[in-house]
Amino acid sequence: MAKQEDVFKKLISHAKEYGFIFPSSEIYDGLSAIYDYGQNGAELKNNIKQYWWKAMVQLNDNIVGIDSAIFMHPTIWKASGHVDAFNDPLIDNKDSKKRFRADVLLEDYCAKLEDKAQKEIDKAAKRFGDAFDKNEFENTNPRVLEYREKQKTILSRMAQSLEKEDLADVKALIEELEIADPDTGSKNWTDVRQFNLMFGTKLGASADSATDLYLRPETAQGIFVNFLNVQKTSRHKLPLGIAQIGKAFRNEIVARQFIFRMREFEQMEMQYFVPPGTELGFYETWKEKRLNWHLALGLGAENYKFHDHEKLAHYANAAADIEFKFPFGFKELEGIHSRTDFDLSAHEKHSGRKLQYFDAERNENYVPYVVETSVGLDRLFLAIFSNCLKDEVLEDGSERTVLSLPPALAPVKAAILPLMKKDGLGEYGEKIFNELKYDFNMIYEDKDSIGKRYRRQDAIGTPFCITIDHDSLTDNTVTLRDRDTMKQERVAVADLRRIIDEKTNFRNLLSKI
Ligand code: ATP
Repeated sequence: MAKQEDVFKKLISHAKEYGFIFPSSEIYDGLSAIYDYGQNGAELKNNIKQYWWKAMVQLNDNIVGIDSAIFMHPTIWKASGHVDAFNDPLIDNKDSKKRFRADVLLEDYCAKLEDKAQKEIDKAAKRFGDAFDKNEFENTNPRVLEYREKQKTILSRMAQSLEKEDLADVKALIEELEIADPDTGSKNWTDVRQFNLMFGTKLGASADSATDLYLRPETAQGIFVNFLNVQKTSRHKLPLGIAQIGKAFRNEIVARQFIFRMREFEQMEMQYFVPPGTELGFYETWKEKRLNWHLALGLGAENYKFHDHEKLAHYANAAADIEFKFPFGFKELEGIHSRTDFDLSAHEKHSGRKLQYFDAERNENYVPYVVETSVGLDRLFLAIFSNCLKDEVLEDGSERTVLSLPPALAPVKAAILPLMKKDGLGEYGEKIFNELKYDFNMIYEDKDSIGKRYRRQDAIGTPFCITIDHDSLTDNTVTLRDRDTMKQERVAVADLRRIIDEKTNFRNLLSKI
């Protein structure tokens, strides 16, 4: 089995074994691409949400947060374009009976070409050593140029065919490139068809009078339809940002990458309402701000890159993704879109209500333009979890698995571990627990050897272990063990709150943005 697959399998089983993520409805054999977050997963997820919310709402005096309903008037999805155009092109393999996204098959093919180009570059870098000029090599080496040119031709033909709804050509392209089902090698494909990703449901008691509704496929529309409510009640001038965290639902055709692509997931979206004509400046600012927010997590700058969209969605005049290096390669983590006045204008048209802002400085009414930042909470969880999960070989040759989460995000901030329950050590530990519990989420554990207990805390990413021994009872000191360095030091119980706070406070992340 490929190493990459091994790493991914280990990650999924670690997430389950340590209470982060369980397959949903597991005792009924699960439900495809739906997952439940366990006790540690829920804490980590909540901490990620807090990091985002604080960075958006708390640190910006012109951004406010809302929580709109999942069910919305069905006309909203007509206005937004989702009823007519929220489709993915699907293709089935007739032999394996597996379903794929036609565009993803082509994109994966191009990713392989890019891998080949990278290999050429890496080989040359090794050969030439310090004298290597990457830029020149990329621009002159015939093989690299050929791989890149081929990618460009494929992606632009795909974009044009999708734009023209020429699905026969998308299939022709897959056949010309001899793309096969990655699992079985079969090239026996059906035609490409469009598939709407929205889940339908019904509102109302009787079958005749029930209204057809959709589960929202994005949280953004709940922000657009509330724009004037929020603007008027908050009395903010433009630029005004409205942020929201919430569930979204998409009937994804292919959902095989754990929590990367789910059918029920959470988004953290912010719509920034600005005067017309200023949107592209704000778009650039938000691209930079959002990348900095990710970088502050300390997962390594080399793991992020921008991907500027060539094919723009019908509502956008500029768009880029922040891609992250997941265990299966660079993939979209966050989207940043300049959405023009498309959404508000469409809602004006479909609702018959004016959605305009009076700009006192310009002395005019207008429909604001919007820059959107949209990040998937579960994808971010996967990015952080996969990057932080490490196997380490220690000096004495033994191994440990450690989840080196940014301390502010760790589900448990400190574990209180009396060497034994008896002799009053347990009670002393409980006393410390009860003092610190108002400030930090903690665990108290007095079973198993101390070594085993340390390993368990490393595996869930707990920054500190606090060990209580007999001396603690007389001198009010404890042993504090650091997750990352594994160094142990003797500290006064009275200093614990300050030390834990210094390491785990959100300020550590927020001040780096
Ligand atoms: P993709 O191209 O991967 O399908 P998208 O471009 O459709 O994603 P957007 O509509 O821009 O995604 O949604 C914004 C963010 O929501 C994405 O960057 C991603 O992090 C997250 N997201 C979208 N679909 C899913 C999903 N099915 N499961 C988990 N997260 C998702």
